[in-house]
Amino acid sequence: MHRLIHDVKFLTSPQAAGRLAGTEGAYRTAHYLKAELDSLGFDSMLQPVDVPAARLISTPRLIVGTQAFSPRHDFAELTALSAGGYVKGQLLVVREDDLLRSEDFKSKVVLIPKRPQRFNLAETVNTAVELGAAALLVEHGEPQWFHKTVYSGNGKIPVLRVRTSIAEELTQQSGAQIELDLPLERATRPCNNVIGLLRGDSDFTLALTAHYDHLGDDSDDARFPGAFDNASGVATILQTARELAKEKLSFNLLVAFLTGEESGLWGAKQLIAHPPAPISAVINLDGIGSESKLNAMRLGHRQRGDPLAEFGESILSKRSIQAQWISGSDDSSAFISKGIPTLGLGQQPTGQARSVMHTPLDTFESLHLETIHQGVEVLVEIVKSIQNVIARRRTSAEAISTLTQEIASPLRGSQ
Ligand SMILES: [Zn+2]
Repeated sequence: MHRLIHDVKFLTSPQAAGRLAGTEGAYRTAHYLKAELDSLGFDSMLQPVDVPAARLISTPRLIVGTQAFSPRHDFAELTALSAGGYVKGQLLVVREDDLLRSEDFKSKVVLIPKRPQRFNLAETVNTAVELGAAALLVEHGEPQWFHKTVYSGNGKIPVLRVRTSIAEELTQQSGAQIELDLPLERATRPCNNVIGLLRGDSDFTLALTAHYDHLGDDSDDARFPGAFDNASGVATILQTARELAKEKLSFNLLVAFLTGEESGLWGAKQLIAHPPAPISAVINLDGIGSESKLNAMRLGHRQRGDPLAEFGESILSKRSIQAQWISGSDDSSAFISKGIPTLGLGQQPTGQARSVMHTPLDTFESLHLETIHQGVEVLVEIVKSIQNVIARRRTSAEAISTLTQEIASPLRGSQ
């Protein structure tokens, strides 16, 4: 428990700076994780991964008339549909029934203060670009903090989400001077997966994976510690590796801390393309510790059919943890799409925990460390049970493919 707390503290510290792929904080984290795997006797490496992402390189500004608004509270970028850029122009407020000519939009900063029914944001952005608008502001509810994303699309103009109450306020100011600076860099940067291999004497390779990247601190005061997402999963996998390094496993144990998850699962895709050993099965962990007890975990699949997920289900239910047939949009989906037996574990955040995701509220203090500790116990048990299944079977290369298919049924039969 002591080491685990230390890990989560480091991962969420100002030194790690929110672990955005391609930043100093992420490199520091990668070296920390590699040193830990080295000390456990893993054969480790930093695997190069090119990660495309949309990264804010300084603080965005939005000024209407003489009033300056606050980033992340009053407004925020919309990376998937936006370009970066500086715009100075005139505000044009557009309501549903307004009769406007297409030339009215030219070079304007267009504000949509109220979303009409069946509003399609992507289509609206396209239309604004076609009409020659300089930028687009869209009302986006009343969150405590606007969620941060780093997913990069190919947007042509700056697009901002604006707090609804502020958008309403601005409807009185159509025609006002507006200045908008969105220092959004869209670039591919060299990053690293952290990979460690502990060799057994069979061809079976079990990969334990968790993404260590997050969204990065803003350049002003807003920190994004990414405690639940996914310092928690990284710490769980690392602690599990510590426990398993003491065992003599008969198969290869591959531990991979993946980068670039937040902007498109890039680290997982790279590991699949260039594994240090052919991967037989994967257990991915994304998000644990949102609640004070480990009452339920998702399996990473919407329905039965994956042998490893069914295997995981049997172990969870033995411990009275509800196994949820829910798929994640996390790294597990990259392995599943390649047909690799995959258990995509994580706690499904609900209610308050859900609104904390991708905001500065996802902190060390909000994590339940005891729950993470329980996660380690579950994970160790799953891996040891896989070991038992393999020990009862032939472990030659020919047996591997059938073993993968049979991984679920023998253990359920033996209970
Ligand atoms: Zn995330």
